[in-house]
Amino acid sequence: MGSTDIPFRRGVRAKAVYQEPAPRLDKDNPFQSMMERFDVAAEILNLDPGLYEYLRSTSRIHITSVPVMMDDGSLRVFQGYRVIHNEVLGPSKGGIRFAPDVDIDEVKALAAWMTWKCAVVGVPFGGAKGGINCNPHEMSPGELERMTRRYTANLIDVFGPEKDIPAPDMNTNEQIMAWLLDTYSMHVRRTETAVVTGKPFLIGGSRGRREATGRGVMTTTLAAMQRLGLRPEDCTVAVQGFGNVGSVAAQLFSNKGCKIVAISDVSGGYYNAEGIDIAAASAFSEEHEHSLEGFPGAEKITNEELLALDVDVLAPCAKENQITSENANDVKAKIVVEGANGPTTPDADTILNEKGILVIPDILANAGGVTVSYFEWVQDRQGYFWTEERVNRRLDRMMKRAFDKVYDAAEEHGVAMRIGAYVLAIKKVADALKLRGIYA
Ligand code: GLU
Repeated sequence: MGSTDIPFRRGVRAKAVYQEPAPRLDKDNPFQSMMERFDVAAEILNLDPGLYEYLRSTSRIHITSVPVMMDDGSLRVFQGYRVIHNEVLGPSKGGIRFAPDVDIDEVKALAAWMTWKCAVVGVPFGGAKGGINCNPHEMSPGELERMTRRYTANLIDVFGPEKDIPAPDMNTNEQIMAWLLDTYSMHVRRTETAVVTGKPFLIGGSRGRREATGRGVMTTTLAAMQRLGLRPEDCTVAVQGFGNVGSVAAQLFSNKGCKIVAISDVSGGYYNAEGIDIAAASAFSEEHEHSLEGFPGAEKITNEELLALDVDVLAPCAKENQITSENANDVKAKIVVEGANGPTTPDADTILNEKGILVIPDILANAGGVTVSYFEWVQDRQGYFWTEERVNRRLDRMMKRAFDKVYDAAEEHGVAMRIGAYVLAIKKVADALKLRGIYA
């Protein structure tokens, strides 16, 4: 962190603060963790060295300074990123996250994961991701709006309905997408709804988009239960993370008859052997500034205790690097379903596999979000909007189909589902690239 005192605006002495993210330890580096899995799949596919080089490379990296006038009159400059990993299957697609630890390695990994995710589930997009290094919880709505608008304006030539289409991710929501849509539309002098997905329904959003990622988590888990001969009503579930993915997944699991024995958020874990009333937990969190702190329907446990619970299903729906070589041995669940991107490290993967735990990998398990983003983009371009039933029906069908393909690919190659998913995805993008050829 460094700061310079500069005279600014009507005598206010403002501080320009530059945030330098703490360097990541190698074992936590999400790009490396993505590449380790990529390498295993590339070997199975016997991927040509040139194709290997091409598919592991990032197509474009945009880093932009985002200056924002804060409410107190000071100026702050945030670091913004947009990384396009690959566009072979179509325009690039991926969310934007606001978080204090956003850095280039994380955004690069997340962009590549989007490429594989879109390929696994069969939507015609390439992969991208964006982010701003900031602490959105300390910012007012006005500051967030100015930051979002300036980030969008800086990247105006990158975004576009046929080029690169952002969406929500960690700490971003429908309102942020609405500001992005408006800023883009003002610049191009027309309302361009298809430039962003995950926006409010009133301005071109899709029914069911908000619940889509959690719904995909539930659908893929039900498919896994079926393969393992488990009945949802006999299963206990622990969900890590109570944001847009975790809270919806927990509710949908509960609707299917599963018993949710534990949930968590940044304030800690909450356990009730008799089952937690998810609707009550959601209402409580809503009323308490999105925190479960003090939730009366459960006893407090730690995050580590939650991951080690003797449950049938463990759903890490928070963030990267949660199940590691340090705690993977303690995991007792039969199914781990990755609602978050990258919650399991490669070392932990090996341990979970040896324990015979079925891991539904992130690039499959959480692909429901981008699937309904695709539906939203289609609806915007047609100007014709579907009912929630139609959205959910098509989502369930696509997720179930993707699950079966990945499960079968894993069996065929004698590998874990994660590697099966990478094999399918890499092969699809490689085949598409061969058809398109290399423009010289
Ligand atoms: N951020 C979500 C993800 O990681 C959704 C991306 C999108 O809809 O484009 O999959």
